[in-house]
Amino acid sequence: MLGSGSSGNAILIECDDSRILIDCGFGTRTLAGRLETIDVAPESIDACFVTHEHTDHVKGAGAAAKKWGWAVYATRGTAKARDLAETRVHEIGAGETIELGRMTITTTATPHDANESVGFVVESRATGARTGLFYDIGHVSRAIADACQGLDMLVLESNHDDDMLRNGPYPKWLQMRIACPTGHLSNADSSAFARDAVTPGLQHLVLAHLSENCNTPEVALANMRGAVRRTAFTGTITAAKQDVVVGPFALGGRKAEAPIQYSLL
Ligand SMILES: [Zn+2]
Ligand SMILES: [Zn+2]
Repeated sequence: MLGSGSSGNAILIECDDSRILIDCGFGTRTLAGRLETIDVAPESIDACFVTHEHTDHVKGAGAAAKKWGWAVYATRGTAKARDLAETRVHEIGAGETIELGRMTITTTATPHDANESVGFVVESRATGARTGLFYDIGHVSRAIADACQGLDMLVLESNHDDDMLRNGPYPKWLQMRIACPTGHLSNADSSAFARDAVTPGLQHLVLAHLSENCNTPEVALANMRGAVRRTAFTGTITAAKQDVVVGPFALGGRKAEAPIQYSLL
């Protein structure tokens, strides 16, 4: 996790010698700095998959693709983003599957106030390990729940605490937009879904896109820990932050190892 929140999102996924980025909501200089903390050269990334056109997900994608030769994959709606205006985008539809290196990337439509937003499930063809990435979702749709069955790792939005949103600094109209079924997923909804999605194979649960005004990592983590306490889950639970690089989340070991937080250079 190279950073997650309303000021920028980017997730690096590595499988054998292939690397992809899910979202690129940071400028190229910021992104290069974050990759440097984990010794990854930006040129070694093959492709960027963009979930939707909001700035915190797409801001640097076009510039990075041009600078470092990445392929960019997005839906037709997302491809209309201003940040992708000069980029040749490989269009992917919801439900479609792309094979890249030894990864299989499957796209699922997500309920969000964006133009054709999607989430992804990335599967290693070498080990069969599957990671689901769903954030900026107003609710967990049937399609998302289906896509999340039998995962080894789940990156799930845990955006806001309902009380903190209600009593927080946002005007009423913005509160309603965040809480609506095409807005952002609350801690309560996130933990309720995770509790049901937990299977013995789930090794890592990562809470993503936490609000800086209406949530804290402690509150989100406490919610999630409480929800999965009586389930079969024995993996790690991590809250991704806006300005912290955290990882790696290795899959396939006998016991899930806790990730490390890297201080930015
Ligand atoms: Zn966002
Ligand atoms: Zn969004």
